[in-house]
Amino acid sequence: METTDAFVGLECDDCGAVVDAEAGSHRCPDCAGWLEPTYDYDAIDLDRETLADRSFDSQWRYAELLPFPREAAVTTNEGATPLVDCPQLAAELGVDRVFVKDESRNPTGTSKDRGASVAVTAAALCGATDVALPSTGNGGQAVAAYAGRAGLDAHAYLPSRSGFTNKAMVNVHGGDMNVVGGRFDEAVGAFEEGLAEHDDWYSLRAFETPYRHEGAKTLFYEIAEQLEWAVPDVIAYPTGTGTGLVGLAKAATELEELGLIADLPALYAAQVSGCAPIVEAVDDDRDEHEPVEHPDTICGELEIPDPAASPRVLDAIRETDGGAIATDDPDVLEAAVRVAQATGLEMSPSAAASASGAWELAERGTFDGDETIVIVNTGSGNKEADVLRSHLMGQGI
Ligand SMILES: *Cc1c(COP(=O)(O)O)cnc(C)c1O
Ligand SMILES: [Zn+2]
Repeated sequence: METTDAFVGLECDDCGAVVDAEAGSHRCPDCAGWLEPTYDYDAIDLDRETLADRSFDSQWRYAELLPFPREAAVTTNEGATPLVDCPQLAAELGVDRVFVKDESRNPTGTSKDRGASVAVTAAALCGATDVALPSTGNGGQAVAAYAGRAGLDAHAYLPSRSGFTNKAMVNVHGGDMNVVGGRFDEAVGAFEEGLAEHDDWYSLRAFETPYRHEGAKTLFYEIAEQLEWAVPDVIAYPTGTGTGLVGLAKAATELEELGLIADLPALYAAQVSGCAPIVEAVDDDRDEHEPVEHPDTICGELEIPDPAASPRVLDAIRETDGGAIATDDPDVLEAAVRVAQATGLEMSPSAAASASGAWELAERGTFDGDETIVIVNTGSGNKEADVLRSHLMGQGI
């Protein structure tokens, strides 16, 4: 298996055993704990000048900090998305600067492409023929795209309320599209049945594969480099399973360890009131979430009532001195419209939870006024233009 020089293998989160990446890919063989890619950071020779000399063309420009070399990658040049200066938002939030990290410009329109690229690369290098995952929608679309490129069959399980674009595009990419009645938990159940029936399926479920949140790291490398290594005070990220937030935290500690940045950004999980298990755990100062019994939100990507990796998400928040914030669906939709009108950028409803969360933080007096804030636009407004438009209809527009 082709791996990068500093990549050591997969370390068990629970017992610390290190598994060779060729021998294992999901769960620790000793204790069934989650596996995490681990590196020999002393062996990584990466400085600011070296990176500045590379073209800003794909997340794989950071391959030294990923398990696989660029030559082996299944990639459509995802990542390398713009960090857009938004002085209009800075004025409204009462801070020094606001940037939107515009992940909508990824190949399938969301930040999911980063993890999908790395995880499908792993599956292909492991000799998989089939990949499978449960998804709220965007993850299924992204995996179908990369699996198609690699010549693998993708089996996606989406709840019936997923967006039409996601369902349509899984099919367009040649994936096996399973629409499951009910919500995300039912999709997970159907996925688990499918996986049990096919021992040759390679799971790409969030966190079950160590490589999706690993791919999410590159988002922070880019932000740090785009800000010329000045770390933003706050990064607001719309949070469902937590792959994004966990990836951001790992990336920030890596760059600190490599001496490329001096401190960590405060990471904020943005959720919605109808499904906010992480926010509730932070507010109650717990180490783990309690499942939400009746999740209900228009932000489908955030309707994850039982995020199994919550201890890791909560660690990411505490290690970076961040926080968690939930706002209501109507406020999230209003934030998407406000951002579109003030900045020209298009956010999907789920993505706009980060903008709505930033507004709420400002209203609560969290900011002093000299901060630099990054709002991550995880997904394209185009994918759910109908939802955004009907919000305006509700206002008679
Ligand atoms: C998946 C997704 C999220 C949530 O990301 P997690 O890594 O699951 O927390 C947020 N916004 C959009 C648009 C997504 O597709
Ligand atoms: Zn273990």
